Amino acid sequence: MIAQVEPLTPARALRGPFDYRLPGEMAGVDVGSMLVIPFGQRRLLGVVVGMSETSDVPAERLVEPLKALESGVPAELVRLGLWVAEEYCSTPARGLSLVLPPGAGTGASRSIGPRRALFASLTAAGRAAASDPSSVPGPRLGGRQRAALGALVGGSLSVAGLTRATGAGHATVRALETRGLVVIERGELRSRPDLSGVGARAGSDSVLTDYQREALSSVVARMDGAADSPGDRRVLLHGVTGSGKTEVYLQAVAACLERGRSAIVLVPEIALTPQTAARFEQRFGDAVAVLHSKLGAAERRDEWLRLRRGEARVCVGPRSAVFAPVSNLGLIVIDEEHDASYKQEGDPRYDARTVAERRAAQAGAALLAGTATPRPESWARLVRVSMPERVDSRAMPRVEVVGTAGMTGPLHPRTIAALEGVRDRREKAIVLLNRRGWSNFLSCRSCGRVWECPQCDVTLVFHRAAGRVSCHHCGHSEGVPDSCPDCGSVSVARHGAGTERLEQDLVALADPLPVFRLDADAAAGRGAILDVLRRFDQAPSGVLVGTQMVAKGHDFPDVTLGVVIDADSTLRFPDFRAEERTFALVAQLAGRSGRGERGGRVIVQALDTDARALRHAAGHDAEGFLAGELSRRQLLRYPPYASLVRVVCSAREPGPEASAAAAIAARVDLPGVSVLGPAPLFRLKGRERAQLIVKAPVDERAVAVRAVRRAVEAVSADKAHRGASYSVDVDPQ
Ligand code: ADP
Ligand code: ZN
Ligand code: ZN
Repeated sequence: MIAQVEPLTPARALRGPFDYRLPGEMAGVDVGSMLVIPFGQRRLLGVVVGMSETSDVPAERLVEPLKALESGVPAELVRLGLWVAEEYCSTPARGLSLVLPPGAGTGASRSIGPRRALFASLTAAGRAAASDPSSVPGPRLGGRQRAALGALVGGSLSVAGLTRATGAGHATVRALETRGLVVIERGELRSRPDLSGVGARAGSDSVLTDYQREALSSVVARMDGAADSPGDRRVLLHGVTGSGKTEVYLQAVAACLERGRSAIVLVPEIALTPQTAARFEQRFGDAVAVLHSKLGAAERRDEWLRLRRGEARVCVGPRSAVFAPVSNLGLIVIDEEHDASYKQEGDPRYDARTVAERRAAQAGAALLAGTATPRPESWARLVRVSMPERVDSRAMPRVEVVGTAGMTGPLHPRTIAALEGVRDRREKAIVLLNRRGWSNFLSCRSCGRVWECPQCDVTLVFHRAAGRVSCHHCGHSEGVPDSCPDCGSVSVARHGAGTERLEQDLVALADPLPVFRLDADAAAGRGAILDVLRRFDQAPSGVLVGTQMVAKGHDFPDVTLGVVIDADSTLRFPDFRAEERTFALVAQLAGRSGRGERGGRVIVQALDTDARALRHAAGHDAEGFLAGELSRRQLLRYPPYASLVRVVCSAREPGPEASAAAAIAARVDLPGVSVLGPAPLFRLKGRERAQLIVKAPVDERAVAVRAVRRAVEAVSADKAHRGASYSVDVDPQ
């Protein structure tokens, strides 16, 4: 047999697949197998993408792979990886790297298998000794020995983990074994992410509301094949915040497992929405594998293997979990489907929501996308099911939009009064300001100089605690200036307020209530984010202030006030999604308030109180907003009524980026396809940039992507534009 192998190399120019003859001992090799292949002078890791009995390569030139690896991926995932490469203008190697076992491709011949280690567990005598050390015959147990026994009461532990946790040495553990209190066996090492303690409520199945029951049966019917075309299997669950969407996901997954099938649950980012993942773990226990970005390579590999071997049949994770190696897929859930994190920023720039649709269709599985603020794309294309009421029919909070024109501080008098009420009644509030740092920018009072990033055409943001001004685009930071380098003046003005400064105002206002800040500076890293959320959840009263992180799907039952500061700042971006984003952010924040018995209230501060996105968000009117948004998009030919491809050209020195962008624009010449630009973009990370947007009819999308790919290949090979580099983004966000 001949294996058609795609080598996993970063070289863009290398176009596989290449043929290799399989020797007899590699008879088990099939599509999805991983091979080490000789390639010129090199050894490369490759994936089998096809099998054939014949080859166009003359027999005497065909060579054999050096080695077949133990692990591989299902053929279905090979197809999906190659599809992503094609669809998002990437390379086969990069597309395939998405579906391979974690860690594969980093070393050519490393085999991927479970990690093994020694495990200790209690014998019956050991269990008795743990509860009553004096019952053990023979010499008295030492402190370390007792600690080790105590630690094993909850279940077996790796010997290494046990010695770390208790300070008992290996000799101590061996001594316990000799005395018949502990057995030591070789086993597979597994480490599970710890999501406990973030207020995951409702451990068991609840009695569903009528709306939940209807939503559930609609999904289950589609899982069972009640669909005429694959499109019919895609359900959009539009449920207001607090309508109990997670319970519907849980029971849909349970139904999927009952049918002997597997499920994938996509969540925006586990660090920001730990409750959802924790609820799945609670409900399904070991059947769940959780993948997230902060897992170490080995942990990720362990979870991947459990899925691959069918030991776990539910995968919960962020966008990359759409490539989980489960077989017999019955359901893909996409929680908070409006969330921007579903789009990958680096090559391949895939959208996990689109990939999920593709994978579900391939597998005959149902797709359930849920949110309180649907994307126009989903609203127009998916089957809608709605849950218009909160569980217990609790009222949606009253939303007031207040104008900020002429205000000097960041807080409106009405906001101040409302926060004082929260303080006096010892309640909880969430305040959203989508801007980090102390103040937006610094300027010289005497000559007007503005402090800018040397790498990017943006102003530097002042961070007071860190004592620095820094760039939010490239990470450049420098000390706070004490005088102006241009005119020598020592008078430096600070403009605008970010979360850091707002926190200080709130501390003064809410005293003695505690104030918790949640943003990328205050809570860097997963552990810190979980910690802030946990402390706010457990505090009897307090104020949570932060960036959009505070508006994610948290379920705190006792928040009575929500505040959005400068709600229309995001509307001023030159982006056709600005309205959609603003609506979602305000509506999501509003949804965090009033989930308990005391009800809730929301104040939205804005310059333009009449902005369409804010009016609809204040009225909890997603349908009205979407209707307006869709007719606007139709008129202007934007998604979902057209497909966009964005090309960004960049260069160190001005020149090549502009000429390259113009050359690409000239080459993309298709009937019905228009090109917007090229237009210059602000300098970023020391690179000049120019962009063009290709706008194609929805059913010409693949043709347009191919045309863009050919144009970029031709222009990048042309020496006239030397120094330019290119990035192509299909369905840019
Ligand atoms: P959503 O995701 O729609 O905002 P959640 O799934 O977080 O809503 O549910 C809100 C709260 O209501 C949760 O605390 C959940 O446990 C509870 N809940 C959900 N369904 C029911 C039900 N049928 N009966 C009682 N409580 C429920
Ligand atoms: Zn100056
Ligand atoms: Zn910068």
